[in-house]
Amino acid sequence: MQLAPGLLFPGSEVSEVVVLPLFGGCYHSVQMDAAARKIIHIDMDAFYASVEQRDNPDLRGKPVAVGHGARRGVVAAASYEARIFGVRSALPSLTALRICPGLIFVPPRFEVYRAVSRQIHAVFAEFTELIEPLSLDEAYLDVTANRSGLETAWQTAKAIRARILTETGLTASAGVSYNKFLAKLASGQRKPNGQFAIQPHEGEAFVEALPVAKFHGVGPATARKMHALGINTGADLKRWPLQDLQARFGKSGPWYYSIARGQDHRAVNPSRERKSSGSETTFNEDLFEPSRIEAGVLEMADDVWAWCEKSGKKGRTVTVKIKWADFKQSTRSQSYPSLLETRDQLHAASLALIRSVFPPGKGIRLVGVTLSNFATAMPNPAQAQNLLDHVAMTISTGGIEAAGEDRSMSAAE
Ligand SMILES: [Mg+2]
Repeated sequence: MQLAPGLLFPGSEVSEVVVLPLFGGCYHSVQMDAAARKIIHIDMDAFYASVEQRDNPDLRGKPVAVGHGARRGVVAAASYEARIFGVRSALPSLTALRICPGLIFVPPRFEVYRAVSRQIHAVFAEFTELIEPLSLDEAYLDVTANRSGLETAWQTAKAIRARILTETGLTASAGVSYNKFLAKLASGQRKPNGQFAIQPHEGEAFVEALPVAKFHGVGPATARKMHALGINTGADLKRWPLQDLQARFGKSGPWYYSIARGQDHRAVNPSRERKSSGSETTFNEDLFEPSRIEAGVLEMADDVWAWCEKSGKKGRTVTVKIKWADFKQSTRSQSYPSLLETRDQLHAASLALIRSVFPPGKGIRLVGVTLSNFATAMPNPAQAQNLLDHVAMTISTGGIEAAGEDRSMSAAE
């Protein structure tokens, strides 16, 4: 169902979008804006595993799992050759080896993945300023303004994927649609190395046919709850009145009501590009696996450090925020005797804090890193080394019980 160029988003389609009456008049104008949007969701194909196969020719064409093969290890990413056997991310390594005896485990190299991530981000920036990264290898792009001058969003997606291949030697898939929810669903349709579009008049039917478990924002727990209520597909979900969805699912009720109709009014939010002393990210799925959670934390620490370099500010308190699958929230924070002077120190401090909740008893949906306590710096090399030793010791003792800590935990909705 791939579309020829020029077919996407003819203006006449805008009027076909259903307007929800319950939100009143202002909703109408938002709806019209949303209908006119052109959103691309870019997703690298088997990202970590593809990077490993790119950098080591011996791994090409073979079933590869990024992760640790040891007991208690989990698969962080699987190559397509491994996926044929059913190897998936988050699968315990021993299970993966049982179903795919030839599986080759490769330890993750997050520094390399982050470097590639910066490359693809630079490619995105050639096409639009409205970039919302979801993870190292995924982002929403709003190309409504069409800076590239290409005729359609479809062509723009093709051009972006071609540039990514040239720059990184890696393939990406793309979803093109009029909102984020559908663009993300679309990018999975022609993987790997493909793209798919959902036009405004197709969105509703597309969602109706889809199992609810595939909806972004419907995790395994919610899917089970929906199944128990007889809601298996988008069409089932659409039969539920808003009030009933609210009664069953609380604040998420209106969201489910909207997406069942192919509607999503969220703008592409490039705010993560505006660096600040705090940065957080919501994962695509609830994560249990330490290496992937740590990768998310390090990415946020990098954001914060970029802000430190730009603003010239440094702090001595690091806080890691965790939002769990049940939306409860925890924070772990530690104050140091002196300011954190290097990115490595911020990394080490952030890792020590997130590791204090490992193994996670429930899925983690969001992590954030914040730096605070911006006391005046009195940096000297000896002090910096002491601090590094202190952080290293904290990690080696596996927790945050060391002196000088400031531990807090709160549960909040
Ligand atoms: Mg991906």
